[in-house]
Amino acid sequence: MKYALVTGGSRGIGRAVCIKLAQAGTPVIINYVSNDDAARQTLTEVEALGVKGELLKFDAASPEAIEQAIDKWESEHNDDYIGILVNNAGIRKDNLMIFMQNEEWNDVLNTTLNGFFYITRRLLKGMMTKRNGRIINMASLSGLKGMPGQVNYSASKAALIGATKALAQEVAPRKITVNAVAPGFIESDMTKDLNEDELKKLVPMNRFGKSEEVAALVAFLAGDESAYITGEVISINGGLYT
Ligand code: NAP
Repeated sequence: MKYALVTGGSRGIGRAVCIKLAQAGTPVIINYVSNDDAARQTLTEVEALGVKGELLKFDAASPEAIEQAIDKWESEHNDDYIGILVNNAGIRKDNLMIFMQNEEWNDVLNTTLNGFFYITRRLLKGMMTKRNGRIINMASLSGLKGMPGQVNYSASKAALIGATKALAQEVAPRKITVNAVAPGFIESDMTKDLNEDELKKLVPMNRFGKSEEVAALVAFLAGDESAYITGEVISINGGLYT
């Protein structure tokens, strides 16, 4: 059976992606790092659709934790493989660069960029063998245009976009597609401290996006009908100029 692994699937965009994939009948592995209750809630919603769901807790920034978790999963799933990977786990630690601490820089890069590298490398072999795969990387508007106060976050997302384009060319002959999604402002825990009333004035559609709207795009890229789209960065931002 083909599974999808969604990193950061416990909350926000990741949860919506898990549910959307489950609605299409895809069994989902829900990764998260600490929020057990939220992860269980996602699992409950996936199972309510009559689709198989599993929790797989690991820190996307830890290569050892990733190897251990995926080794264990594979040893318990001899007839299954992970054919869809959504690299969604991400954090914000905003600060002006002049005040930015090493930790703020490293934590953001480790989760978004290094996490993408460790997890994708681990799963590529299985996809290459099956000659089938979908990799979707959660980038951001910040990675396209740069956002002040987010030099760390913008750098991590811009690097993720470069990696998406390079990897897409490496694995295209094996029918594996690699694409990035670049959301603008989306309602979630990550944006709940922002002044939505002010910021939405910058958005031509005059509102923040919903996690479900991003999830619909991810689900399309994860499906069979997107087979000829690879190395792309698709913005979903209500018309914010990029
Ligand atoms: P969110 O609501 O804060 O959720 C973050 C998710 O990532 C949670 O499931 C969290 O797990 C998980 N996570 C964080 N660090 C992790 C780690 N080290 N290992 C594994 N999982 C980890 O964020 P969101 O708004 O849904 O954002 C999801 C993605 O979209 C991120 O990559 C973000 O940069 C990107 N994005 C968001 C927006 C936006 O406006 N919201 C815009 C552009 C891009 P726990 O629950 O266990 O903490």
